[in-house]
Amino acid sequence: MTQATDTFLETLSDLIAIPSCSDAAGGNEAAVQAYVADQFRSAGARVRTFDATEIDGFLDHPLCYGPDRNYRDRPTVIAEVGPADKPALLVLAHSDTVSMNNNPALWTITEPFVPLIKDNRLYGRGANDDKWGVACLIHILRALQADGVPLRKRLVFASTVDEENGVGNGVLLLHLADLGAEAALYLDGGDHELLIGNLGGSTMELHPPARTDHEALVALESHFVDACNRISAERRPLFSGPWQDNEAADRSVTPRLMEEGYIALYFYTLPDEDGAAFEQQLEGMARDILGNQADQFRMSTHTPWFEPTLLDPGHPLVNLVAGAYAAVRNEPAKVTTVSKQDAFVFRRYGLPTVAYGPGPTRGHGAYHQPDEAIDIDDAMAGFQVAHRAVLDWLGKD
Ligand SMILES: [Zn+2]
Repeated sequence: MTQATDTFLETLSDLIAIPSCSDAAGGNEAAVQAYVADQFRSAGARVRTFDATEIDGFLDHPLCYGPDRNYRDRPTVIAEVGPADKPALLVLAHSDTVSMNNNPALWTITEPFVPLIKDNRLYGRGANDDKWGVACLIHILRALQADGVPLRKRLVFASTVDEENGVGNGVLLLHLADLGAEAALYLDGGDHELLIGNLGGSTMELHPPARTDHEALVALESHFVDACNRISAERRPLFSGPWQDNEAADRSVTPRLMEEGYIALYFYTLPDEDGAAFEQQLEGMARDILGNQADQFRMSTHTPWFEPTLLDPGHPLVNLVAGAYAAVRNEPAKVTTVSKQDAFVFRRYGLPTVAYGPGPTRGHGAYHQPDEAIDIDDAMAGFQVAHRAVLDWLGKD
């Protein structure tokens, strides 16, 4: 292993070893964010941190999800380099991770917070999503300092909180913090794809009357599977252009019987689509399936929704990141979209944003799964793509 790989993996391992899970109630990002702030400082950046409660207009913003969630000790960390009066590229990643799937015993290679390298993969919670991204922020800053790169423009590095359960909250905080960025590179994604758009949508919950037995719910779920498959097939032709290969294109509504004993319908909407009308269609489907029990079920849809957004594939930011990718990997970048991502908040407010990450989205060790892992060559190639994109942005007029 080269020295650069060694030191990158050291940082990524440090980050994994500091638990920072977030859940529906809150999150414990404080310790990992303190580590990140230290690293940013020692790389020579101007560093500041803020809590959600310090950002005016956040808690009552229409896109703020669950304002009663706990926001104590969950600082966002910002590092800036370059002239303060120049336009900035914002480079960000999120410091929180999902939990251990509530069952650490599902981890077979190592424990979630004990990073381990095996078969050229680094294992641990967040190895892929998204401590890889946070490690990139630190190492891009270090490289800029070590190489004495002239900074004609400003760079803002942000390690955010509350991505996994917060809809757009972490990104909304950055938007409201008014960083003066003209473009954003979000180091969170998968499979080396360049993500320029996201679907909208939300989750509809169907809560049965008390003491509905499990068998009845299993039977209901299978009816929902059939109906959702039909609706998804009807909608398939809507997914064209950059939406063609979207992971949700074949299943734009899917039901799941939750452990807590209710049925959740995950649904996705496209730009220019009437989301409210689709929600009504789903309610109608649910009422048909439930028949005369419908009124005994409590139906609700999470708000706020993810909003569908798409950056023009010809936007200079897309060309910049695609160019960096091609230069590092000797192949053209795949420019596509993702189902749900908090980057929608930036695009919604006119900040061009491309998201990118190298980790696996499927198979053993995929993001959010037990034995989460990242291939070391992928991790380093991904870092080089991000680093190169930042250098190219600095160099371009
Ligand atoms: Zn992520």
